[in-house]
Amino acid sequence: MDNLQEFDRKHIWHPFTSLDADEDPILIENAEGIYLYSQDGRKIIDAVSSWWVNLHGHSHPKIAKAIANQAQVLEHVIFAGFTHKPAIQLAKNLLTILPDNQSKIFFSDNGSTAVEVALKMAFQFWYNQGISHKKKVIVFHGAYHGDTFGAMSVGERGPFTAPFSSYLFDVRHVNFPKSANDVDVIKQFTSLVESDDVAAFIYEPLVQAAAGMRMYEPSLLDALVTIAHSQNVICIADEVFTGFGRTGKMFASDYLPSKPDIIAMSKGITGGALPLGATSCTERITDAFKSHDHNKTFFHGHSYTANPIACSAANASFELLMEEECQAQIKKISELHIAFSERIKHVDTILDVRCIGTILAIELNTAAGTSYFSDVRKEILTYFLKRNILLRPLGNVMYILPPYVIQEEQLGEIYNYIEDFLLELKNKP
Ligand code: PLP
Repeated sequence: MDNLQEFDRKHIWHPFTSLDADEDPILIENAEGIYLYSQDGRKIIDAVSSWWVNLHGHSHPKIAKAIANQAQVLEHVIFAGFTHKPAIQLAKNLLTILPDNQSKIFFSDNGSTAVEVALKMAFQFWYNQGISHKKKVIVFHGAYHGDTFGAMSVGERGPFTAPFSSYLFDVRHVNFPKSANDVDVIKQFTSLVESDDVAAFIYEPLVQAAAGMRMYEPSLLDALVTIAHSQNVICIADEVFTGFGRTGKMFASDYLPSKPDIIAMSKGITGGALPLGATSCTERITDAFKSHDHNKTFFHGHSYTANPIACSAANASFELLMEEECQAQIKKISELHIAFSERIKHVDTILDVRCIGTILAIELNTAAGTSYFSDVRKEILTYFLKRNILLRPLGNVMYILPPYVIQEEQLGEIYNYIEDFLLELKNKP
């Protein structure tokens, strides 16, 4: 055990983790349902679905079986000039649940690449039509779309992006909406799109996840998408986090009448079993690429594009997602979250408690204000890990978004610990 962790510390570089971290990572041996089992005998509830990817619980037998079967038949094949049944089936499945205006699917490897593909599709859409003045992208303040260069460019600038700032392209920012009728945001947005040089507007629909599970109203977003469309701006919904039932509907875009032109997906697409990204778009987008002129081809791809095993995992996850039981679970979790928010909303250590679908976020009232680098982050992480709950806060925002298979009693256990924590925080001198 010691040797393994020693080797890890010496030779493995973990994401979003200081190389000077005090603590060794917890060694997980196996996982089942909502539980992670560590090598030293701990049984930890995964209250955040392991970076928001796991939908149906860990090591789900149906997904495991689909992976094992596919691995024995066709593990991989180049996806240029070749195709295969798992990808065709997955495209079919996605198109049955995506907004009606979506018609084509481009596969990639993760959320960041799904966003890169979306941005490149939008830029080349204008390029292919010989329109050179539409180059700008509008983004919300606080956005997070991934860690590759395009995705960083359209995300909030700060310590995460500072070392790379001179390599990122310029974008235009609009404030994060404060209310459903935030007239200032609408005015700001309208004046930005009216300048006629805007290629695209990219947004995390209804929830800015990494910014601290910040939520905003469908009617406001609908107004922005409508204004964007009226000025011929491509709308890109980044549903990497919100897709596949997380917000209570299949996609967060389903909450509003105006539909995006391009949608980026990943995370829950395989139920959390294998990495996969997908970007869908409308026929209007693909029409600009249909040409014998090779300058108009979308020259983008990855070695593992549409990997058959990942597609099979996604198809199995899709079938589970469509089951009545799963949909009932999503509804049940949403109701329990709402009831719990009502129970705790008056606790004075809370600045705000908010929820949508299976996501519950509690913003703590701390002297230092709201920040990813809030000192309380470590305190929350440690408190819950000691109680065998993985709850990895975003600064002073603690949140839970469990796998959909979680039972009422298990969720109750997490709620009780959250209440205890809030009480302890309140009684702190
Ligand atoms: N877009 C959103 C909205 C996300 O929340 C994330 C990751 O958290 C990404 C894109 C990037 O996804 P990935 O980490 O798979 O690259």
